[in-house]
Amino acid sequence: MINTLPNILIVEDEPSQLELLSYNLDAEGYNVFRAETGEEALLLLKEYHIDIVILDWMLPDVSGLEVCRQIRHNKDTANLPIIMLTARGEEDDKVRGLNIGANDFVVKPYSIKELIARIRTNLRARHGLETPELLTYANIKIDTARHSVTLNGVKISLGPIEYKLLCVLILSPAYVFSRQKLLERVWGNNIDIETRTVDVHIGRLRKNLRDASNIEMIRTVRGFGYSLDFKF
Ligand code: CA
Repeated sequence: MINTLPNILIVEDEPSQLELLSYNLDAEGYNVFRAETGEEALLLLKEYHIDIVILDWMLPDVSGLEVCRQIRHNKDTANLPIIMLTARGEEDDKVRGLNIGANDFVVKPYSIKELIARIRTNLRARHGLETPELLTYANIKIDTARHSVTLNGVKISLGPIEYKLLCVLILSPAYVFSRQKLLERVWGNNIDIETRTVDVHIGRLRKNLRDASNIEMIRTVRGFGYSLDFKF
């Protein structure tokens, strides 16, 4: 089975930390969902399919520990990988967290690189959920390990959003994604983005593909959405 890009939920009440993490994970190709409180995190988990949670221990309302407990007690999320972020040297926290069912711990201040490595390991261990390395459709090839896209064997360069859009579209060729669905898959739950933005980036992607191949590869379903489909 081919999986779509992993959905990652970051639960962190400190805006600058949340921003930094979101930015970096987004750049790594994950679909980022954000929550600033435990309550918000639990609501998002009910609404969306999440593949892994980065959970801050100290939260203003429901504590990270309690969020972790509730995730484990719900049968839909019982096996969801959870990486907890904790303050330096809180060994007791670590023991309590592992007892309650956290999969892994990262101590603040952490290196983003290390956290990303832990995310990969935990996704692989639980679900084999890494994006397959080579995605192909018709004359398009995406090497996700190298973030490189070729068309008829010639490398083309795409912006980061166009790249993510293409990764989502290529996993389900000819499937028509609504603009709302593309928003969720590419931008996560970043509520500041309007569906019009999807049109803008689809327009750029379409132009990139057309310039490189002279073939129309993106189909528009008026008033609804888009698909990757070169035979329409
Ligand atoms: Ca905190």
